[in-house]
Amino acid sequence: MKIRIGFGEDIHRLVSGRKLFLCGIPVPFDLGLLGHSDGDVALHALSDALLGAAALGDIGKYFPPSDPSTEGISSALIVKKCLSLVESKGYKVGNVDINIVTEEPHLQPFIGKMRESVAMMLGVDIDSVSVKAMTNEGLDAVGKETAIRATASLTLIGE
Ligand code: MG
Repeated sequence: MKIRIGFGEDIHRLVSGRKLFLCGIPVPFDLGLLGHSDGDVALHALSDALLGAAALGDIGKYFPPSDPSTEGISSALIVKKCLSLVESKGYKVGNVDINIVTEEPHLQPFIGKMRESVAMMLGVDIDSVSVKAMTNEGLDAVGKETAIRATASLTLIGE
């Protein structure tokens, strides 16, 4: 059995006039994340972790921001594509650990739904999906509420 580790990280600006999506779940807030897609920073970190674990590059390779056909797409589609790429190399997801850093909004009420959402996207048990939330203690862009950062670590299991 081969085990591979992947890591992904992303940051997006918080702007007005956009809906906020995190782990595929709409989160009520007066700002949303800027991006070519729906801006779901947590799913982008997850997608990069999937690709990284299989040494397949990064999401910019498969979803270039210059491609008008992917403008405004749900980031769940990005995760699905990355999952199919790693599955085609003979891997399946072991477990996932996602960390989201926001000053506002507080994400604790949404953590359960986020775990369910990611588990469904990846086709794994909810016990294999961790989503954690923390603040940036008022520091830097995230602390000033001008951005949200996310990281994701995961394992892939191969034959
Ligand atoms: Mg991104």
